[in-house]
Amino acid sequence: IRILGIEGTAWAASAAVYDSATDDVFIESDAYQPDSGGIHPREAAEHMHDAIPRVVETTLEHARETYDGPAGEAPVDAVAFSRGPGLGPCLRIVGTAARALSQALEVPLVGVNHMVAHLEIGRHSSGFDSPVCLNASGANAHLLAYRNGRYRVLGETMDTGVGNAIDKFTRHVGWSHPGGPKVEAAAEDGEYVDLPYVVKGMDFSFSGIMSAAKQAYDDGVSASEASGGSSDERSESDGVPVEDICFALQENIFGMLTEVAERALSLTGSDELVLGGGVGQNERLREMLAEMCAQRGAEFHAPKPRFLRDNAGMIAVLGAKMYEAGDTLAIEESRVDPNYRPDQVPVTWRSDEPE
Ligand code: ATP
Repeated sequence: IRILGIEGTAWAASAAVYDSATDDVFIESDAYQPDSGGIHPREAAEHMHDAIPRVVETTLEHARETYDGPAGEAPVDAVAFSRGPGLGPCLRIVGTAARALSQALEVPLVGVNHMVAHLEIGRHSSGFDSPVCLNASGANAHLLAYRNGRYRVLGETMDTGVGNAIDKFTRHVGWSHPGGPKVEAAAEDGEYVDLPYVVKGMDFSFSGIMSAAKQAYDDGVSASEASGGSSDERSESDGVPVEDICFALQENIFGMLTEVAERALSLTGSDELVLGGGVGQNERLREMLAEMCAQRGAEFHAPKPRFLRDNAGMIAVLGAKMYEAGDTLAIEESRVDPNYRPDQVPVTWRSDEPE
């Protein structure tokens, strides 16, 4: 089976071809990089408008070049696209492109939930049967496990997504988007400082720690202004160095995710954990999760970075499973959904495991 996937929920305009016979995934992406600040929905949609036709064209060319079926037939079996969750103006462009392409190629359309794709790519590359999944992405943060035909949300953020929380802090500090990799780099030279840690049952919250981090940074700036500014030396009166704030942000935020991931493993009795989402590129988060899993005799899998951040490869891979299960969409039912939750998706491509 060969599927052309299209992704464009927020910043990545991306298209891919997945071939299930060889397990090859060809991905072509074009990232939106804001001039200043975070992701602006209108600018992101303008980016999709420019970039989606381009990445789709390149991908289609690849599909044609690698196709060895009968002449005159479409080089893919279906077109899969991310229906949501994501920014409405971006999703509508992706939806329009996918519908047009499926009609032009005369192949079915498959509507993929972006968050389920983030977790399914880890299940696919790990070969795990029924893992607990931690999705740590820009706009989301949740733990999911499959039960009776759905991915159930076992725990989630009570406020913002984990990447967005980190990006808000870096925006405050004046660092360019995306902030996650900059916090990771700065944390290497940091030491622990006290910041809030909030886990309530199976849920976690990032708003308190982000406000405290911004406050600690502002206190540091005003302290250093008061002392004349330029000293690099650490002293009480200079306030908290930004490296220390970054270090503590990582320890606490990833600690919260790891604690709830452990509880989810214990609750479900599963001994497999997979990671998904752009924040999953962070080495410290992976280290904490791997250590926790090792301690309880569970297996841990993180997909390669190109499958962690937003990418159309994961859309095409899940699209292939859905297509095989006959889970295609009629054009008139193919509206996008900016608030599409993973637990709304009937999981048609897995057989129910016994309890
Ligand atoms: P969603 O999938 O929820 O729609 P998204 O579209 O924002 O999220 P992702 O690609 O999953 O996209 O994640 C992007 C986020 O990952 C950004 O917030 C970015 O700061 C964060 N990120 C990227 N690299 C790292 C890193 N090394 N450490 C921490 N965070 C990172």
